[in-house]
Amino acid sequence: MIPVNNNYQKLPGSYLFAEVARRVKAYKQQNPDADVISLGIGDVTRPLCLVIIEAMQSAVAEMGKSETFRGYGPDFGYDFLVNAIRENDYKAHGVELEFDEVFISDGAKSDTGNFQELFGEECRVAVPNPVYPVYVDTNAMAGRAGTYDENSASWSRLTYLPCLEENGFVPELPKEKVDVIYLCYPNNPTGTVLTRFQLKKFVDYALENECVILYDAAYRAFVNNPDVPVTIYEIEGAKKVAVEFNSYSKTAGFTGTRCGYCVVPHSVMGAGEDGTPVSLNAMWKRRQSTKFNGVNYVVQRGAAAVYSPEGKKQTQEAIDFYLKNAMYIRESLKKLGLTVFGGTDAPYVWVKVPDGENSWGFFDKLLNECKVVCTPGSGFGSCGEGFIRLTAFNTYEKTVEACRRISEMPR
Ligand code: PLP
Repeated sequence: MIPVNNNYQKLPGSYLFAEVARRVKAYKQQNPDADVISLGIGDVTRPLCLVIIEAMQSAVAEMGKSETFRGYGPDFGYDFLVNAIRENDYKAHGVELEFDEVFISDGAKSDTGNFQELFGEECRVAVPNPVYPVYVDTNAMAGRAGTYDENSASWSRLTYLPCLEENGFVPELPKEKVDVIYLCYPNNPTGTVLTRFQLKKFVDYALENECVILYDAAYRAFVNNPDVPVTIYEIEGAKKVAVEFNSYSKTAGFTGTRCGYCVVPHSVMGAGEDGTPVSLNAMWKRRQSTKFNGVNYVVQRGAAAVYSPEGKKQTQEAIDFYLKNAMYIRESLKKLGLTVFGGTDAPYVWVKVPDGENSWGFFDKLLNECKVVCTPGSGFGSCGEGFIRLTAFNTYEKTVEACRRISEMPR
């Protein structure tokens, strides 16, 4: 038998959503007629906007004619999409990007998962706690996380940045020297945001300590608050230290269609063996052109339609719809005396479990007494214990009904 990558053996089972599904299935088996409402899964429910569908349909028609048929596309994305991104997602926010600093991909999961390949195994990595698990698991697969301890639910070589009620879910700067910091804002799972002032502290830290920030902006479309940046490059100096990941999944309902992009400025550097600066942009080009053959033309045409005047209007309607749900959840639970966070600039509401119960205990209570599914906060890291995450992605009617049931829960 062949030796395998033993780092995979160190990974704990992907317990969270499997366990949620197991408990929901068991409940439904015992209560076959129960109308269970899910506010648990982070997937969109609204169909793609008409303008996106039309753009993809005409791209499909082009693929059927010899004059307009396309084979392999450019490795890093078609001009029409890259330029639309530069113009609308950056220039409109005062940020100039060069054409080859933008890389089209099939989404932020692959990009946030793959980017760590560019870093040495010895790099010290900092992650928020709680956190989107992809950052942790992909570093563990690469042998950078050390060993996993079940009791503390933590890896020996990762630096955890606790996001707690006490610090308003704004992580403190690492106390030890780290090389890479993952940040995700608007945040999954807490639904909280960083102001420009708060994000600037991280950028300044990275500049002073020569580290790289991997900034996941997958939920940028939900930002309302004018003090909250939609891109890290709004912060002075960020182009020297930050790589940014974006996605059309939540912005435009592309979870099943698959398209995103990442920005790797020329000025972000790592160090080679002899200490000479190495461009991460050049390395990412090399990596992507070797391992990735681009996103299909039809989907890129669909993504570009997001930036047309009608596309902006239609996608904003969907975002507003989800934000209305988030606000409804937030305000209803607050009226019940529950402590809630997030939900104003994100599709997630982070709810403090009342009466000192734990996350899974409250999950069971919501399922059994209200027929409502949530996600236990402890599944995102030890600092998520004592919280649950509710998502705004269901219909308005079901969201209202779920909140009504929670309000009638015996307490
Ligand atoms: N980043 C964060 C923080 C997410 O929550 C998600 C999806 O839930 C992703 C990335 C994945 O995005 P994509 O669908 O573009 O792969």
